[in-house]
Amino acid sequence: MAHSSSVVCLHHRPLTVFGAPGRYVQGPGATHELGRELKRLGLSGPVLFVAGGTAQRDLQPIWRTVLPAEGLEPLVEPFGGECSDAEINRLIQRGQGQRAVAVVGAGGGKASDAARAVADGLGLPAIITPTLASTDSPCSALSVIYDGAGEVSGFRFYNRHPLLVLVDTSVVARAPKRQLVGGLGDALATWFEARTVRESGGLTTLGALPTSTGTALAKLCCDILLSDGPAACAAVDAGATTPALERVVEANTLLSGLGFESGGLAVAHAVHNGITTIPGSHTCIHGEKVAFGLLTQLVLEGRPQGEIDEIYRFQHAVGLPITLAEVGVDANSEEQLRRIAERSTIAGETSHNEPFPVSADMVLSALKAADQWGRRLT
Ligand SMILES: [Zn+2]
Repeated sequence: MAHSSSVVCLHHRPLTVFGAPGRYVQGPGATHELGRELKRLGLSGPVLFVAGGTAQRDLQPIWRTVLPAEGLEPLVEPFGGECSDAEINRLIQRGQGQRAVAVVGAGGGKASDAARAVADGLGLPAIITPTLASTDSPCSALSVIYDGAGEVSGFRFYNRHPLLVLVDTSVVARAPKRQLVGGLGDALATWFEARTVRESGGLTTLGALPTSTGTALAKLCCDILLSDGPAACAAVDAGATTPALERVVEANTLLSGLGFESGGLAVAHAVHNGITTIPGSHTCIHGEKVAFGLLTQLVLEGRPQGEIDEIYRFQHAVGLPITLAEVGVDANSEEQLRRIAERSTIAGETSHNEPFPVSADMVLSALKAADQWGRRLT
């Protein structure tokens, strides 16, 4: 991943930076507070919504009640589904001339990524209200951009974080369990990547050294997932909101978001980006590919086997991938594995945040060994 420009002082040493959204609100029925929350931020007038399918169907009727009551007018624009340059430009054009005072992203990770890009393009504050706890995108100040074929094509970095992130856990609890599980994969990797960046002295996606705060939040995120993850999955199976689900949603969304951005990324997300070059992986969601990337990272780093096995067992128990086949990659195809390894180690990728040089051959070996170790359990 290309970093935003490094944050340096006059002597050109990297500075230590922590970034965060202005406010985080979470709980069952939180959507009903959106109007009051926007008003308390000083907003009034038209608000442009970039809304995924669930948000249009389930949340729009609530927005149309609670926003006008606070002097706000929702302008709802359907999200096309891919966070691509073309879709971002289309949404910016729709927003021009509407006199909107903010852009709200409502949907999955790609909807929130697109909404941040649109807000930046229009010079407006971004508000994110995710309908899934499937990625740690909502709280960040960056967007992952995909090309028309579903491959990661680049990143956009913003100077401002979202003004507000509002998570309605009764909406998240009704989403397919696979989405929450994907979020567990994305969030579980956060601590292991932040630990690596701390060890290597590498830079975070903020272009700065990690704060102790970001690294500590990443660890808390991991601890919550390991203890509450399976119970939260059971709650979603029942369509119920429970304290365990609330803690896991906070871990997936807030802690992981702060932890990755102010703690740093490493091999796990680089391997994710590599896996997206394989067309068979496109039916897998972000956190599933990150989960296999995490196993690859732990093997490549040569972590103690007890730690590696704990992560394999957890991922297998909650339904995250532990083999290449489960992320749509043919483990017998040297060509596919080579393509992933090469993409994972291009210049500027986060695989170079390890404390030692990382080559494509090292990633190739780790991919094969991680897959073989996972196959014992399936
Ligand atoms: Zn991620």
